[in-house]
Parts: sequence; structure tokens; C-alpha cells
Amino acid sequence: MALQRMGIVSNYTHIRQCCVAVVGVGGVGSVASEMLTRCGIGRLLLYDYDTVELANMNRLFYKPEHAGLFKTEAASRTLTEINPDVAIEQFNLNVTTTSGFEAFLDSLCEPRDVNDASSSIPRRSRVDLVLSCVDNYEARITVNQACLELNQTWFESGVSEDAVSGHIQKLVPGENACFECVPPLVVASGIDERTLKREGVCAASLPTTMGLVAAMLVQNALKYMLGFGEVASYVGYNALKDFFPTMAVGANLECRNSICRRRQQEYKAFMVSPEQVAKLK
Ligand code: ATP
Ligand code: ZN
Repeated sequence: MALQRMGIVSNYTHIRQCCVAVVGVGGVGSVASEMLTRCGIGRLLLYDYDTVELANMNRLFYKPEHAGLFKTEAASRTLTEINPDVAIEQFNLNVTTTSGFEAFLDSLCEPRDVNDASSSIPRRSRVDLVLSCVDNYEARITVNQACLELNQTWFESGVSEDAVSGHIQKLVPGENACFECVPPLVVASGIDERTLKREGVCAASLPTTMGLVAAMLVQNALKYMLGFGEVASYVGYNALKDFFPTMAVGANLECRNSICRRRQQEYKAFMVSPEQVAKLK
């Protein structure tokens, strides 16, 4: 409310109507979910297939007594204790499997009209934003595909294997680069991501870097949903130099994803339609 009085946000209570999907409730996703819960978000959809391990205690959020519980279950319990007004839906699934992807898409959509099950009407997303907090390429590609299909804006986030850098990126289908428009270096160089993760060798992890990335993610989610400030296209974080590079990442006309190319055409048509130009005058 003070944010409203001070003229930062014109209608903070709108947050009670907002729904955010958090894919991956690990080091970044759990903290982002807690921040949204403390901000009074209306509804949170949580996705993860993993359980809490004692080895995860170098991160924030989970406690030793959560060990063995599904992350979605442990997160729901804690978040409900913090703010019982948030409606939390948990989805204990792997979004990259065929059935997981179907369940993921279904959960993001308004329920279909029972009389119109085979309808060709495009499905409508019921969420305001999807936050990707997963830690692998396959899962990010899956979130990208779902969001392109539903024409859903989402944010991607990541923390490097050495724990000292991270980033967030906004992806509006058709307007910005999708996750396949500009493949990450690992993919562009044809390296199999799985060979990077050596057996028995843990990726480094710092609660500081993960907390910062979660904060940048939620800060921009709030700006996007409540319409204040400028929403970042891309913010990087280099912990060794305290450097935060920003940039805009445009869509690639030759993206290999056909839905991305279609969304780009729709976006262009919308931008230059005579009606739009007339309205802007
Ligand atoms: P580590 O791999 O070091 O144990 P982690 O698996 O907890 O860490 P984080 O970066 O902290 O990794 O969080 C990423 C989260 O995303 C994890 O909880 C993981 O289970 C989840 N995740 C990754 N891929 C998928 C997927 N395909 N479907 C659902 N959740 C996923
Ligand atoms: Zn693309």
C-alpha cells in the first residue's frame, strides 16, 4: 500500500488477481515463490519432479525436516504457512516427458468448454506469467514450446555451473527472441549438456547468487504484472566483478521453431496494421 501512496504503483492490490507459474522449485524457483507469496500474489502454480535432499541445504528456503518430501509439497506447506491467502497448486511432474508436457499445458490453460472439446479455438492461458527456474536445456526448450503455443510471456533464469554468474531474460512470443532463436553457446557448439555434468561432481552453488537471480526475476515479474518501471529484456549478473550487463535480444526471422516464426509474423502484422497506426495518432 505504501508503494501506492508513494506513487510507485497505481494499483498494488491487483497482485491479488495475478497468477504465476513457477517451473522448477529449486535454488531459484523456491526463493522466487517465497518472494511472490510475501508480496501477496493471488495464485501460484508450482512444478517440479524432484525431492528435497540434505545436500540442498546450502541454498535458501528448504529446511532439513523437508528432506525426502517432494519439493512442490514442501514448498506448498511453507508458503501456505507464510501467507494462507495465496492459492497454491502443486504439479509433481517432469515437464519434458510426453505426458508431463500435456499435463503442463493443460494446467496452464483455462479449462476447455466440455461441449467444445475438439474445438479449433486456440487455448487460452490462465496465467499472467511463467517463470522458468529449471537448470537444464531440455526443460527450458519445453517451457519455450509451451509458451509459444499459448502465446504466453515468460521469464527465463539461470545460474552458471561455477555459481558466480546468472541471468534473467524476458520472452514475449513474436516480439523478443524465443529460447530457440539464439541457442546458448553449449548447444550452438554441439556439446551434449549431459557430458558437462560429470558423475559424482556437483555443480557449485551459492545461495547469494541464486537469491540475487530470484530477486531480479521477481522484481521484473512485479513490474510486468503491476505496470510500473521498465521491465528488463535481459539482465546478467557477474558476481566476481559486480557487473550487471543488460541488453535487448530480438527475435530471429530464421528461428528453427515454426511457431516462433508464426508469432513473429502475427506481431509484425499487429504492429503495422493501419488500425493500430490510426489509434496511436
Ligand atoms: P542440483 O542439480 O545441484 O542438485 P537442483 O536439481 O536442486 O540442484 P536447482 O538449480 O536448484 O537444481 O533447481 C532446478 C530445479 O528445476 C530442480 O528442483 C529440478 O528438479 C527442477 N527441474 C529441472 N528439470 C525439470 C523438469 N524437466 N521438470 C520439472 N522440474 C524440473
Ligand atoms: Zn524463436
